[in-house]
Amino acid sequence: MQDIKAPITEEVANQMVWELPVESRLSSEKIKLDDTTLRDGEQTAGVVFSNEEKINIARMLDEIGIDQIEAGIPAMGGDEREVIEHIAGMGLNASILAWNRANLDEIKDSIDTGVDAVAISLATSDIHIKTKLMKDRQWVLDSIRRAVELAKSHDVYVSVNAEDASRTELGFLFEYAAVAKEEGADRIRFCDTIGIMEPFQCYSIVKHLIDETGLEVEMHTHNDFGMAVANAIAGIHAGAQWVNVTVGGLGERAGNAALEEVVMALKYLENLDLEIDTKQFYEITDYVMRAAGRTIPAWKPIVGANMFAHESGIHADGVLKNPKTYEVFSPDEVGLERQIVVGKHSGSKTIEMKLAEFGIPITREEAAELLPAVRAKALLLNRSLFDKELVKLYQNFMAEKATAEAKVEQVEKQVKKTASKIQAEVADIAREVEVHTKGAEAVLTTAAVAEVAEAKEMIDAPRAGEAKENT
Ligand code: MN
Repeated sequence: MQDIKAPITEEVANQMVWELPVESRLSSEKIKLDDTTLRDGEQTAGVVFSNEEKINIARMLDEIGIDQIEAGIPAMGGDEREVIEHIAGMGLNASILAWNRANLDEIKDSIDTGVDAVAISLATSDIHIKTKLMKDRQWVLDSIRRAVELAKSHDVYVSVNAEDASRTELGFLFEYAAVAKEEGADRIRFCDTIGIMEPFQCYSIVKHLIDETGLEVEMHTHNDFGMAVANAIAGIHAGAQWVNVTVGGLGERAGNAALEEVVMALKYLENLDLEIDTKQFYEITDYVMRAAGRTIPAWKPIVGANMFAHESGIHADGVLKNPKTYEVFSPDEVGLERQIVVGKHSGSKTIEMKLAEFGIPITREEAAELLPAVRAKALLLNRSLFDKELVKLYQNFMAEKATAEAKVEQVEKQVKKTASKIQAEVADIAREVEVHTKGAEAVLTTAAVAEVAEAKEMIDAPRAGEAKENT
């Protein structure tokens, strides 16, 4: 593990001017994780877990080393109450927490399920107090006082939740926390219920809250602006000791701070190892997403399939030479596998290597010849190629190449054959020409001789007459 960290913490970090703009209280003191997949996660519109799934999720969370499991809301009764009671009785290492409104009967009933921890939730922002609860601040303070007092009298761990804390007037938030502390609450949950904080603001408010009350603070952040994990970490820098997370970031609307993102960010960006068994991250996320009727998006940080998929020729080449060129941590650390993807941006080296995986030897030249076909296919399909598609493409390419070669051979033969035929014909013609020429010559010669003879006769005839006359 250490050698994977080294390039970031030593080689790179030593070259950077690395200075937090604020004082950090992040220390080696253990940050604790409270997973709310079974409560806020299931509260997500459209998500419902069966009791069996809830039990499996609780077991998996416990196995990887989560400190506290928020198991649900007993006041909902029926299956929900039943499964919380079951989980509380499973003898897990994790603390089991039940979520409650500040309602005394509900809290009592909640404790009866056998959980060792309760969360008591009350909204603290004026918009919630006035328009949702239709009460006033004093009612909120009185209610939380009575609720915490009751819960603590049963000797359970108490988390006091300040719902919509991020929109709560700071003075009132401190007052609320002070009442909770007076009654013996173990922590206050700072809820960015609608996900409107940004990290620097978050740091500032949480720091004040801790300075003012001395209570342990838990971060409950939502991802409406993509800040859930950043805000949770800002809270940790400000001194918060708990983070409320969900597997895969499941949760109301855009979700909560994702368990796997918080853990890996703390480990690799903040050098803080929470000693969670990260090797099971993919498995547990896959399980929860299936149970929620979802799939893990390929681009999901930490556990998405693309985290360790490389297509671009330059990246694939780099990763094959040394994974650290384009990967922060090793895929097996989160239960994934590295994938070299063949597609539009691949180079011939990737094709050569990928086919070798299937026991297909191909020369670099052949791979370079195959490359345009690979790119054309990827463009046509609008995606990278499956392994099967690459092999098929290779087979077609080789078959076409063989056909083309056979055709060339055939044409060459044909050309040769035609050439020799023409040569023979030319020879025949030549011969014929020769014969005809000779014949013609002979005819001409005979004719010429006859003509000569005739001419001679014509010349000789008068002379013969003359000679007769003379005799
Ligand atoms: Mn929430």
